[in-house]
Amino acid sequence: MTVKIDTLLHESRRFAPTAEFAAQTIATQDLYAVSQKDPAMFWADQARNLLYWHKPFTKTLDWTNPPFAKWFEDGELNVAYNCLDRHVLAGNGDRVALYFEGEPGDSRSYTYSELTTEVKKAANVLLGLGVTAGDRVAVYLPMIPEAVISMLAIARIGAVHSVIFGGFSAESLRSRIDDANAVLVITADGGYRKGKISALKPAVDAALQTNDSSVKNVLVVKRTGQDVQWNDRDIWWSDAMKTASPEHEAEAFPAENPLFILYTSGTTGAPKGILHTSGGYLTQNAFTHQNVFDLKPETDIYWCTADVGWITGHSYVVYGPLANGATQVLYEGTPDSPHTGRWWEIIEKYKVSILYTAPTAIRTFMKLGRQIPQKFDLSSLRVLGSVGEPINPEAWMWYREVIGSSLTPIVDTWWQTETGSIMVSALAGLTETKPGAAQVPVPGITIDVLDDDGVHVGHGNGGLLVVTQPWPAMLRGIWGDPERFKETYWDKFEGTIGAKDGPLYFAGDGARLDHDGDIWLLGRVDDVMNVSGHRLSTAEIESSLVAHSLTAEAAVVGAADETTGQAVVAFVVIKFSQSEIASHEDIVSILRAHVAQQIGAIARPRDIYVVDELPKTRSGKIMRRLLRDAAEGRDVGDVTTLADTMVMNTITAQMKK
Ligand code: ATP
Ligand code: MG
Repeated sequence: MTVKIDTLLHESRRFAPTAEFAAQTIATQDLYAVSQKDPAMFWADQARNLLYWHKPFTKTLDWTNPPFAKWFEDGELNVAYNCLDRHVLAGNGDRVALYFEGEPGDSRSYTYSELTTEVKKAANVLLGLGVTAGDRVAVYLPMIPEAVISMLAIARIGAVHSVIFGGFSAESLRSRIDDANAVLVITADGGYRKGKISALKPAVDAALQTNDSSVKNVLVVKRTGQDVQWNDRDIWWSDAMKTASPEHEAEAFPAENPLFILYTSGTTGAPKGILHTSGGYLTQNAFTHQNVFDLKPETDIYWCTADVGWITGHSYVVYGPLANGATQVLYEGTPDSPHTGRWWEIIEKYKVSILYTAPTAIRTFMKLGRQIPQKFDLSSLRVLGSVGEPINPEAWMWYREVIGSSLTPIVDTWWQTETGSIMVSALAGLTETKPGAAQVPVPGITIDVLDDDGVHVGHGNGGLLVVTQPWPAMLRGIWGDPERFKETYWDKFEGTIGAKDGPLYFAGDGARLDHDGDIWLLGRVDDVMNVSGHRLSTAEIESSLVAHSLTAEAAVVGAADETTGQAVVAFVVIKFSQSEIASHEDIVSILRAHVAQQIGAIARPRDIYVVDELPKTRSGKIMRRLLRDAAEGRDVGDVTTLADTMVMNTITAQMKK
């Protein structure tokens, strides 16, 4: 039997770019037409136009041994040179690359010349410590300029970085260091988070305690000045940089040279060490960063709020923006320190024109109320982006109205650690946007929505999202585990009708095609519920709940049910402005009726629990598998990737009320 995902939610709002915006937009409809003719050739053109190749490539794509792709294989480039030196050589050395804003309010900036010099010095430091091309270096730093400098310095000498988010424990750090056999760790004494000093060095010390690790040295950036334990292998970053030569000529490396390993967020299970390489990755990031956001490097001030510890930080803080010579803001801290208007204050201060953030942040601001951003001048903003989870249509509308003065295009960008770059998104200024839809594959990318048998679902239906042809920024594997790579992403559709023209990449996400053929993300396939034979998506019911004025955030799971197989169980967070007004019983009956009315009785939650917080990963994504455990009365499973490991205790207590 072929099973599709039932799709129920209807959305008819449309927003065309203003004539004024459209007139100045970089992207053109031509990009679609040209790329559809021959995607590989299209990417070859982009690679030549957007990057500097020390040795031009003659081969574009080798897909003779799928799923192992090679792009621009005989070409050579230096990733850091592309992000730094060439901008200086082109006369843009005085342009600001980074405006750094520390959480306590300290700030500093780096021009492209200054950043280039810092990276050259850091490259010499690494070489001096015996790090060579191909070696792995772990980076465990706060969101400070040294994180960017470290990544670029590692790339510059052809080594491989593995950035580990600063919130991870000693144990997570150790397992990632071991998995990659890192020879060096770059860390800091600590960083500032939520108004407090948070230590980093002790976790590195604990991770390396047993002395049998591959790590030879630890470079330590002084950020907070707190006391640290000192070991023989430790070196202060500032001491090493003081004596390092500012001269370093970038050597060319093959396009398929590994650039980094990065672990996925762990939303669905154990994180996977995703491997990315150089030429294809940089090409697609430069292209998407320019065309999705309509980047004008001479005038835009760009700000992506993601931590460099996540893929969004790699692709859209470091590589895409710097390859394009953009000026950007780098912020160390949390959105609510020292006050809940901090982000808006930063936008006002630097006149940020492009903001790229996550739905979880937007919903948190919705919960606090629009009066906070409205105190600031946000008129510099001209493009808004979203990434990480499906953005509920009401959160999208709030983002546009309150943050974007009801004018700015919103680009909802779907992609993954594995895809390396944005895959599905509107192009700002070109696409007529729809609240809640990721919309169209970016030029050069081919996406389909299939049922379990690999059959195209057709417009108006839901199914599984697949990528049908190799793309330049695609993962080249899971570090050290080619079998898991095949199994996780490529086996699903093997032998199906859909795979007759070549292997299909299975993303693990559900999606629907609307009547225009636009793509809507429906959440993880693992989270799809089966209620009386109907396959329902978490995203649609959550969006319906968030559309009610009482609700700020919602998570929906399917819990075993004797009569319906599974039943819809919802967890909701109520907006601050509403929390005193309605009683729990009223909220529950109002919201149940609302969902039934908006999308149908089949989707009406059996239970709704009002809670203070939802369980989220450190990257801010809702972890539904834990809520499913709670809804089915089981002990809650592995919570190590949660941002706040206590939150499930609070939730289970609140469920009993
Ligand atoms: P793991 O694979 O370890 O479970 P993860 O999938 O959360 O973790 P990431 O690579 O950070 O790790 O996230 C990619 C996922 O995020 C996508 O597969 C998708 O489920 C979700 N996602 C990202 N952007 C969007 C978006 N714009 N709309 C809907 N979902 C999105
Ligand atoms: Mg994933």
